[in-house]
Amino acid sequence: AGKSWHVLLDESGSEAKAAVRQRVYWSDALREALREDRLELHAQPIMHLESGRIGHFEVLVRLRDQTGVLHPPSSFIPVAERSGQISQIDLHVLAAALREIGDEGRRSAPVSLAVNLSAQTLRDDDFVAELAERLRESGADPARLTLEITETVAVTDFAATRRVMEAVSALGCQFALDDFGVGFSSFHYLAQLPAALIKIDGSFIRGLAASRERQAIVSAISAIAQGFDKRTVAEFVETEADAAVLRAMGIDYAQGDFVGKPLPIAEALSMDELSLRR
Ligand code: C2E
Ligand code: CA
Ligand code: CA
Ligand code: CA
Repeated sequence: AGKSWHVLLDESGSEAKAAVRQRVYWSDALREALREDRLELHAQPIMHLESGRIGHFEVLVRLRDQTGVLHPPSSFIPVAERSGQISQIDLHVLAAALREIGDEGRRSAPVSLAVNLSAQTLRDDDFVAELAERLRESGADPARLTLEITETVAVTDFAATRRVMEAVSALGCQFALDDFGVGFSSFHYLAQLPAALIKIDGSFIRGLAASRERQAIVSAISAIAQGFDKRTVAEFVETEADAAVLRAMGIDYAQGDFVGKPLPIAEALSMDELSLRR
């Protein structure tokens, strides 16, 4: 028995060490990427289901490493949340997104973008001032910026979150509640938050057309959203059949591979011009 205990301790010890090594690795990689401007923006189109038009895009960050490989957010965002680097990432993405919005002269039609904010960024004392400054610098129309925060973020430390959301709304930007339905937080909170949009989590949308249970959940969320005067976005819309079900339920927008995969932002935004000219 003594021996097996030994083995067990040893294994968990080296697993923990490997995890620490991973965190240190990504944290260093991130610092370098920020310094060397190797965070790249992708954007994924969000379609208005009734008209078929592309209303806006979600901005998604990726990290280009020194060897040229592009890494998804799942590789480095969780590390950045632990190391405190996430606010730097979020503000970098935000500033770049605002430059795109503000750069209207280059495009035939103005563009609306949604960026993701993690809890730490939103709770940063300087966040509202920082956002106001970036809005001014870029000359972007605040109404063209949506900030996505998760339902769980919104509901922990509710009073403080609501204060920040109200201050940001006063600047003219809007909020979306991301990954909605996963936490199934109190609807009481939902009614009190200044969020214009609800993004229904992809886990309820995948395979929607073939699942009565999922349809029941999504149509319940849709009814609640309508009752609260909030617009709805379905994520992970991968098939035309799912899109048709969502349209019939009165869901406002669809995002997912059926509409378009995330692309480097310049490419994605030139797609917008095409669909608007049609
Ligand atoms: P999210 O905010 O829920 O973003 C949606 C994710 O689902 C994106 O993954 C997108 O590529 C993926 N997706 C959308 N439609 C489909 C589909 O039809 N099929 C499949 N298989 N996937 C789909 P991505 O780009 O890997 O981002 C993952 C998460 O990383 C995001 O989830 C968000 O929480 C986080 N993230 C991305 N960029 C940022 C950022 O700038 N700041 C912060 N704080 N988080 C970010
Ligand atoms: Ca999001
Ligand atoms: Ca989401
Ligand atoms: Ca998410």
